[in-house]
Amino acid sequence: MAAVDSSSRTTSTGTTRTQSPSSTATTTSTPQGQSHVVKSGETLSGIARSHDVSLGSLVKANPQVTDPDLIRPGQRLNIPAKTAGTTSSAPARTPAPKTTAPTTAPVPDAPVPAPTSSGLTAPTSTLRRGAHGADVEKLQKALVNQGYMSQATMNTGPGVFGPATESSLKKFQKDHGLSADGVYGPKSRAALQQALGQPGNTQAPPGETTTGTTNGTTGSSGTHVKPPVKSLPSPNHSSRNGTDIDTIVLHHTASNNGKGDISWLRNPDSKVSSHYVVDKDGTISQLVSDDRKAWHAGKAGMPGKGISDVNARSIGIEIVNDGKGTPFTEAQYKALEKLVPYLADKYKVPESSILGHKDVARPKGRKDDPASNFDWSRVRDAVK
Ligand SMILES: [Zn+2]
Repeated sequence: MAAVDSSSRTTSTGTTRTQSPSSTATTTSTPQGQSHVVKSGETLSGIARSHDVSLGSLVKANPQVTDPDLIRPGQRLNIPAKTAGTTSSAPARTPAPKTTAPTTAPVPDAPVPAPTSSGLTAPTSTLRRGAHGADVEKLQKALVNQGYMSQATMNTGPGVFGPATESSLKKFQKDHGLSADGVYGPKSRAALQQALGQPGNTQAPPGETTTGTTNGTTGSSGTHVKPPVKSLPSPNHSSRNGTDIDTIVLHHTASNNGKGDISWLRNPDSKVSSHYVVDKDGTISQLVSDDRKAWHAGKAGMPGKGISDVNARSIGIEIVNDGKGTPFTEAQYKALEKLVPYLADKYKVPESSILGHKDVARPKGRKDDPASNFDWSRVRDAVK
């Protein structure tokens, strides 16, 4: 499972949440004083399910749990009251209200009927602070999609290029090696087109689009094709700070509930994420764009080396599996046999750097994923 990467917290602005008893008191839950004593082998998501509450509300009610991966048997957890419409299987976050304009981005969890339905394009005009109109709104939607602006921030001034839009654009420019002047011009447009995987831009590898369910098309490297991915963006990411990708880290989620796992990895309170999640049925979801750092490895180091920022150099893949001997599905292996070779090819990852979380987690033994019944030969043979 992904682990809290404390170094990421400091570099990510806007995702830090303070959890205090007073903040939980302001939720719509009513305190009931119900509690749960953790038994050996239980997971937070399992406990949430058993009490029919959302993971997000369970985490909020337990500010003492700083690493959701590390709950201890005997630990007492507060169980929040159920909120109407909230179940453990529902995402903890509901999408912010959206306008009904035809260019509205798809609701993240809704089935996406066609790959072209996102309507997200990089605007063509030059934009700066003070600008307003449809192109500014396009820019804002793209920044939201790329994780540089929250939907809530955008809702405070859709179509108005104010200080929030400017600072979001500056962050985007900085992460893409541009001068962070806050002016949206041709270079920013090219970078944004590429980030959105917008068709018609020769720089963007086809199939790189992470909006909607895409069909596999020829990858940039030619030999391996990016398999179709479902776009379910997570806010939990930060800059790679210029570090090249040269490692792939595989995980198991420690649960058999893919929907709950994805919900957790997209919850800003969890502070964890991965680039990809491979569900039981082989569906691959992309939560974080490859060019951003996902927060999956926690305290880690490359084999034989000291502690380093493994997240900055790696792509993290979570496989939905409880890690207790449940077989990994044939559909999962088939998906990994496409996804891992594609990534290894694209980023020139040597076979020796396709690792499990257990290989990089520090101190040694902190993690055991993917579980020992995971058939590494399936992945290794596919990248040969
Ligand atoms: Zn893991």
